Amino acid sequence: MSTESVLRAAGRRLRIPQDAINGMRIMRRSIDARRKDVRISLSVRIYSGEVPPPLFRRIAFPHLEPSSPSAVVVGFGPAGIFAALTLLENGIRPVVLERGKEVHERLKDTGRLSREGILDPESNYAFGEGGAGAFSDGKLYTRSSKRGDVPRILALLVQHGADESILWESHPHIGSDRLPYIIERMRRTIEEHGGSVLFGKKAVRLLRRGDETSGVECSDGSSYSGPVILAAGHSAKDVYSFLSASGYSLEAKSTAIGVRLEHPQALIDSIQYHCGGERNPFLPPSSYSFVTQAGGRGIYSFCMCPGGMIVPASSEEGLMVVNGMSPSSRGGYWANSGMIVEVRKEELPDPDPFAMLRYIENVERRCFFPGFAAPAQRMDDFIEGRVSSSLPDTSYPRPLESVLMDDFLPPSVSASLRDGFTAFGRMTGGRFITHDALLIAPETRTSSTVRILRDSGMKQGRGLYPAGEGAGYAGGIVSAAVDGTEAALRLGGDYGYIV
Ligand SMILES: Cc1cc2nc3c(=O)[nH]c(=O)nc-3n(C[C@H](O)[C@H](O)[C@H](O)COP(=O)(O)OP(=O)(O)OC[C@H]3O[C@@H](n4cnc5c(N)ncnc54)[C@H](O)[C@@H]3O)c2cc1C
Repeated sequence: MSTESVLRAAGRRLRIPQDAINGMRIMRRSIDARRKDVRISLSVRIYSGEVPPPLFRRIAFPHLEPSSPSAVVVGFGPAGIFAALTLLENGIRPVVLERGKEVHERLKDTGRLSREGILDPESNYAFGEGGAGAFSDGKLYTRSSKRGDVPRILALLVQHGADESILWESHPHIGSDRLPYIIERMRRTIEEHGGSVLFGKKAVRLLRRGDETSGVECSDGSSYSGPVILAAGHSAKDVYSFLSASGYSLEAKSTAIGVRLEHPQALIDSIQYHCGGERNPFLPPSSYSFVTQAGGRGIYSFCMCPGGMIVPASSEEGLMVVNGMSPSSRGGYWANSGMIVEVRKEELPDPDPFAMLRYIENVERRCFFPGFAAPAQRMDDFIEGRVSSSLPDTSYPRPLESVLMDDFLPPSVSASLRDGFTAFGRMTGGRFITHDALLIAPETRTSSTVRILRDSGMKQGRGLYPAGEGAGYAGGIVSAAVDGTEAALRLGGDYGYIV
């Protein structure tokens, strides 16, 4: 729909001539595909006799001197990035310590992993500039109930190069091809205003002054003083280990695990848009969101990537993990989504803080094949309980191993997945379950398995602010960014830098 036709329709609805309209802002755009005639709903604000305000408020960052108060941020994923920008905005100089490489070097390492199956344990889909968010799908919506200043997060992304449409799309998406450039610009903002982002700096210990956390020591022997925002993500198991060894309080957390499921995108379009063949060119590649309960467990689709690809997302040799991403165009042949089942910490025999982490690791170890070949099974064969005699083409860049998925997943997870798929099949008139759909295992890093405890002031003792997904209080890009932002504001308040 062109701007011209929207303005014509608005003029008619408001009973004003079109030439009395001097501006329009899209407030929200969504697609309603529940009925056969798919609708695009557009909510717009029309300006007549006044100048439309700017689309968003650009944040002007102050230039900080080396003598400005400073704070240490561990990890430069979404939580660390937004914590650092918030510190900067409030006159606190961020010193960011990131164990991995800058994002374009990282691209080469993830490329090598995809092409040759060779993993760099410090530079992969989990570690490096941008964290797990860098090559993430870049969907900016989340099931998390976390509240916070989401419009500010989105505005900062636009300020650093994201498309303006993320401000109004009901399901905003950036795309794995664009995220690295946006992340790089955010780093430049920090550096140009007096902060620093240091790569190859792996935190190995927190420094203490009495009861207070007073800084960070890195693996190269360097150390950095100041209050600490710890935003190391959920794959930094070594961080949990050194926290536990130094007497910090952690607990096990419930999570959800399962598989990545891949269909041809055209099939998902035909189900979601009720079309026989190709989708209407005005419509984007469609997505789905399924949820059901079976045997007292939630089973749901997670992080669906229309037109996307499945990637090897492990950060450790010997452990297999898959995840999904999609470019901004979402123009690929396949659609993939996590299909996951709740695993509650109460189910585990041993309630120590690392119990869930060990449970997940066992699954990842069982699913590992040399070179990150992945265990796979056709969807209909999985439901019928037989090994697939052949496997379909896939977006997954490494080889596949045809297996009986039941031998690789915990029995309660595979039984629940089978129940869930059957329910999702019923919801789609049977069309979702097909010989052309492929399960690849395992999808295990859906959220943290450990929580770093914090008080109502978001800290553990004076000086330590655990933040983001790895702290166990956030999940997804926006929710981690909100959490990092709030941690920075709390730190600023506690130290009297923000009044
Ligand atoms: C392939 C993929 C696709 C995804 N798609 C989406 C999506 O579409 N939408 C969405 O909302 N979420 C998505 N996610 C999840 C999302 O990326 C995470 O929820 C988010 O990145 C968590 O942010 P974080 O900052 O808390 O942690 P992370 O992003 O994990 O960042 C942690 C950072 O800390 C660094 N670090 C770790 N240990 C240390 C140490 N000892 N010293 C120094 N640095 C350290 C790491 O290198 C990393 O850079 C996806 C994830 C993946 C892997």
